[in-house]
Amino acid sequence: MKQIASLLLAAALLAGCRTSQPPRFIAGSGDLVIENVTVVPMDREGELPRHAVVVRGDRIVAVEPMGSVQVSRDAIRIDGAGKWLMPGLADMHVHAWRETELTMFVAAGVTTVRNMFGAEQHLGWRDAIAQGKLLGPTIVTAGPIVDGDPVTWPSSIALSDPAGAARVVEDHIASGYDFIKVYNGLKRDVYQALAAEAAKRGIPVAGHVPWSVGLGDTMATGQRSIEHLDGWIDAVDRPGLPHDWSSYWEEIGRQLGRIDLARIPPLVEKSRETQTWHCPTLVVMNRMAGLNDLAALHKNVRWLELVPPATRKSWEPQNDFRFDKLSADDYVTMCSYTDFNARIVRMLAAGGAPILAGTDQGNPFVVAGVSLLDEIELLVAAGLTRRQALEAATTNPARFLGKTGGFGVIAPGARADLILLSSDPLIGPVPLPDGVVLRGRWLPGHELRTRLTAIAESYTHPRQRNVPAPVIEGLESAPGHEAHYEIEESGSVSGEERLVAGRVGGQRVIAANQHFDDPVATRHSYRLDAASSTMVIERSYGKLEVALRVDGERLIGSGSSFRGKPIAFSMPFPKGAFLTADGVGGLIALTEQIKALPVGGRTTVVGFEPSYSRTPNVLEATFAIERKPDAGGKRTYAISKRVGSRESSGELVLDADGWPLLQSFGPPIDTVIRRLAEPPARIP
Ligand SMILES: [Zn+2]
Repeated sequence: MKQIASLLLAAALLAGCRTSQPPRFIAGSGDLVIENVTVVPMDREGELPRHAVVVRGDRIVAVEPMGSVQVSRDAIRIDGAGKWLMPGLADMHVHAWRETELTMFVAAGVTTVRNMFGAEQHLGWRDAIAQGKLLGPTIVTAGPIVDGDPVTWPSSIALSDPAGAARVVEDHIASGYDFIKVYNGLKRDVYQALAAEAAKRGIPVAGHVPWSVGLGDTMATGQRSIEHLDGWIDAVDRPGLPHDWSSYWEEIGRQLGRIDLARIPPLVEKSRETQTWHCPTLVVMNRMAGLNDLAALHKNVRWLELVPPATRKSWEPQNDFRFDKLSADDYVTMCSYTDFNARIVRMLAAGGAPILAGTDQGNPFVVAGVSLLDEIELLVAAGLTRRQALEAATTNPARFLGKTGGFGVIAPGARADLILLSSDPLIGPVPLPDGVVLRGRWLPGHELRTRLTAIAESYTHPRQRNVPAPVIEGLESAPGHEAHYEIEESGSVSGEERLVAGRVGGQRVIAANQHFDDPVATRHSYRLDAASSTMVIERSYGKLEVALRVDGERLIGSGSSFRGKPIAFSMPFPKGAFLTADGVGGLIALTEQIKALPVGGRTTVVGFEPSYSRTPNVLEATFAIERKPDAGGKRTYAISKRVGSRESSGELVLDADGWPLLQSFGPPIDTVIRRLAEPPARIP
C-alpha cells in the first residue's frame, strides 16, 4: 500500500511536471525578447532574476521566468545574462532645442521628457517621434512660458490682465500643448484667472511659484507641479521682514540665516494632501554653485564634448546675465542653498509628498540625458532611498501624467521603453545603458555610442554641407554678386551660406541658402528685395514659410507653420525703415542704406528682419553705424545692432565693389561670417 502510494505520488509529480511543461507564453515572429535578465519591474518591490521580457510592437507583452517562455526562431533575441533591465527613465524638466539632444536623452536611457518651454518645434518633434519618423524620447510639452509683463525670457507670453487668461488657455489647447507653464512674474489675480480657466478647460498648470502668490497658495490653487523648489525659501522665512533684492544672493543668504524650520512640515503635508508634485531639479543648482570652478566642472560633467562649442562658451558665467556679477560670497551662499534644497527634498520624501526627477537640462553644464543620472544620485544624497529615487524617474512621472502602468514599469501592457544595465540600479548609480528599447525598437549600445560619436565629431571635423547656390529667375547679368560664406561661432565653423545678388527688371534681388549644423542640419533659404521677402526653414518634421510685404506703412506677413498652420499678421512699418534678413543678404540690404556715409560719419537705421527663434516673428533691429577709415581698398564699419533690450556690436568689412567680405559680432557668442575664396565673388 505504501509502495502504491509512493508510485501514485511519483506519477502525480510527473504529471505535474508535464502540465507545467507547456510554456505560458510564446514569443513569435518579430517579437523582441530580452532573455536571462534580472528585471527591475518598478511596479512592485524587488527584482525578478532569470526572466524574459517580450516586446511586441511598442508594448511589453510578457514578463515571465525563463522556463515559461518559448521563443520562436524568428524572434529577435537579446541576451541579458548578468545584466539588469529596468524601465526607461523620465527627465521631467528639460529645455531641449536641438535634435542632437533627443539622441543624447535616449543614449542615457531617458525615454520620456517633459519639455518646460514649448514652441511649435516641440509639437513637431512630439508628433514625429510618436510616428516613428524621428528618434527621441516621448515628449510632453508646455507651451511658451506664461509670465508677467515684462517677461523674464524672450519668446514668453506676457500676461498682465486677468481678462487675457482665457485666450492664453484657448491658444494652448488649439495649438496642442500638453500643459501651461507659469512663471514668477504673474500677478496674483492674473494667476488665479489663468488657473481657473485652465481647470475649466482641463489643461494642467505647472511651473514656478509666482512671487505674488507664494508656495502655499500655489499648492492650494491646484498647480500640478512646482519646479526647482521654487517658493520654499520665502515660505519658510520669518514673515513681515523687509526684503532687499538689490543683490539676489545676498538676500538669499540672509533668508537662509533665519529659516524657520517649523514652517516646513505643514507645507510638506500640504504638498502630500493636495498631491502637488515637486520637481526639485537639484542638479541645476548644484552646477550653478560650481560655476566659480570651471576646471572642476569640465572634469566632472560628462558628455560636454556633445555640447556645441558656442553653447559651452555661453555657459561660462561671464557670458550669462544671471552669473556675470557674482562674488565669491555669492558662491558660498549658493552652496548653502543646495544644502537647503536637499533638506526640503529629504523632508518631502519622508512626509510622503510626491517627487519627480528632473534636471532643468539646457542650463549651464546640465547636459541632456546624462544629467538625469546625476540628478538621481543627488536625490539619493538628499536622503531618498535608491528605490524612491528611481521611482521619481519611472513610476512617479507616469502617475503624474495620469498614465500609471502605461510606462515607467516593466509589466504587460506598458510602453516598451527599457534600459539594459551592467549593474544593479537598486544598489548603485544607474550606469549608462548597454542598450535601450525605445517604444519597442532595440538600440544596442554600439549604435548609441556611434550616434554620440557622430555628434562630438560634428564639432571637431569639417562637414560636407553641400549648400546649393540659389537661383534667381530672370537675373540680369550685371552688376551681380555670387559668393559662399562660412559662419563661425566661438571659434568653430557652424554653418555656411551661399548667396546670389543682382537685378531683375532693374530691382535689386538677393537669394540665399543657409545651412546651420545646429540644430542638426537645418536648411534656411530666403529671398529679399526692397519691398518683400520670403523665408523658408526646413526641419525633419516640416517646413516653415513666411512671406513679408511692405504695404504703405504696414508690413503684411503670411505663410504656414511647420505643421501647416496658416500664419497671418500685419504690423506697423515706419517710414525710412528697410527690409533685411538674418544672413549676408541682410548685410547687403544694410549697406544700401549707408552707401553715402562718408569716412567718420555715423547714422542709425531701422531694419525689419523675419526670424525664427522658437516662434516665427519679425524683429525690429536698430543699427547704429560708424564708417571707419578705409584700408587696403576695403570699407570698414563699426556696427551695433539692438533688438529689444539685447545689443551686440561688431564690424562689417566690404570689398572694393561694396560686397560683404567679413562680419564679426560678439560677445557673448563671438560670431564671424567670412567670405570664402570660391566660387568667384563676381558674376562675369
Ligand atoms: Zn527650467
